[in-house]
Amino acid sequence: MSVDFELTARQRKLKYDVREFAREVLRPAAERADALRDAQEAFVAMKPVFEQVYAMGLATCFFPKRYGGGGASNVDMMIITEELCAVDAGFPTIILVNGLALMPLTWFGTEQQCEKWIGTATNCATMDYLGGWVVSERGGTANFDHPDPSAGIQLIAHHDRANGEYVLNGEKHWPCNAGGWDLRGADTNLCIVRTDRTKGGRDGLSAILVERGTAGIEYEVIDKIGLRTCQNVTMVFRDVRVPEENLFAEGDGDIVLNRNFTWSGPIASIAAVGVARGAYEFALKWAKTYTGGGSSPIINHQAVGNLLAEVAAKIEAGRYLCWKAAHYMDKYDSEGHALGAMNKMFCADVMQNVVFDCMRIVGVNALDRKFGMEKYYREAVVFPLYDAGNLGMQRRKAWGVMADPGFTPDLFADCAPFAFKKSMEGYGVLTESPHEARGHQRSRTR
Ligand SMILES: Cc1cc2nc3c(=O)[nH]c(=O)nc-3n(C[C@H](O)[C@H](O)[C@H](O)COP(=O)(O)OP(=O)(O)OC[C@H]3O[C@@H](n4cnc5c(N)ncnc54)[C@H](O)[C@@H]3O)c2cc1C
Repeated sequence: MSVDFELTARQRKLKYDVREFAREVLRPAAERADALRDAQEAFVAMKPVFEQVYAMGLATCFFPKRYGGGGASNVDMMIITEELCAVDAGFPTIILVNGLALMPLTWFGTEQQCEKWIGTATNCATMDYLGGWVVSERGGTANFDHPDPSAGIQLIAHHDRANGEYVLNGEKHWPCNAGGWDLRGADTNLCIVRTDRTKGGRDGLSAILVERGTAGIEYEVIDKIGLRTCQNVTMVFRDVRVPEENLFAEGDGDIVLNRNFTWSGPIASIAAVGVARGAYEFALKWAKTYTGGGSSPIINHQAVGNLLAEVAAKIEAGRYLCWKAAHYMDKYDSEGHALGAMNKMFCADVMQNVVFDCMRIVGVNALDRKFGMEKYYREAVVFPLYDAGNLGMQRRKAWGVMADPGFTPDLFADCAPFAFKKSMEGYGVLTESPHEARGHQRSRTR
């Protein structure tokens, strides 16, 4: 039996332990925080819960054991994330982003960098360690691999060789965790920067670690409609000086970005499944008890029963695609770029509709805040848009892999390895409107 979807006894225990924590500890705190009007206050209200998950080892569980982490597999992450997100999807995003901040060191950093930076994350005496993954920009992120240096990432890192530093200038918009609990910065922010202003996104980008307390950064909190228990910020960098040894993956920031969003793909996908499961559990219970003014519970109406069956089927299908992608990532150390992207596109898009179908089952009361259903909807709409938005970045990544001559449709079913290459980047970034094309045509024929 080579295909086995059964959880081990350890995984089942993990699932029910996390479920109990989510229901008993996370739910009341998240409900209170979500209701706060101020976005930063909502995030800070979750700090005591975060300290608990740090003590449980969940906040650093994905880091290798040799650096003090829990050595959790991607499949373990599926179990943990689904249980937390079925209750609240913002809080687990704080945990996910700790991983996004430092997992790239395990793929592209030196042993010393891993020991220093991941060791600090896993040995935090105050148990409130935050890492930020600082990529997205106000001008747009979807074209980070554009060949024109004036497009894509514009946080500039100028190498001041005389002083052994990089000097950062520019802005970032949307990074999670990055402002820290007190808006004076996360403990570590991993920033994707442009180190070469003469080259496009495939060769001009790098990754740099910025320590809390580094002068010259301002943070402003973004007030968003869903996932209110995690923090997103705008960051302005003005002559921010960072030691040159904090830079890594020079000229390969694009590869860091793609692999990191591949690692997070199944996690974001199972987060969407978790939210849909929460909505489905609510709708199922409602359908078995609410009569809609009729003579028996609404589940006895065929329209409701059929839609519930569709909802349940889509959730099951989504969950197993996540498990498959996570299993593949475990086997190839997050080298599953097309599968990670397809997983994210499929689950986030489908689960958003599943949540709305659950609302259709509940009916108009789904809109009444006191029943709690609307929170699932506010969360579900985030998934297609965040974690390298589905419409552009995720679809382009899968497309680039599929366009490679070595790609075969059997690849993932056969669980065969397939490394990601720079030649797979840049698909769909060079476009022009018919009007521009006609203009070029005219100038060529003159
Ligand atoms: C809760 C939350 C947490 C987040 N956490 C982080 C974080 O930790 N770090 C971080 O850096 N960011 C974070 N983000 C931002 C997030 O990662 C976005 O997914 C990312 O900025 C990409 O957004 P976008 O696709 O809308 O890009 P944009 O560049 O703003 O694109 C806008 C639109 O244009 C389309 N488009 C543009 N160019 C193309 C193209 N070439 N082909 C096809 N379509 C195109 C896109 O598909 C999209 O529809 C977070 C966002 C949220 C809501």
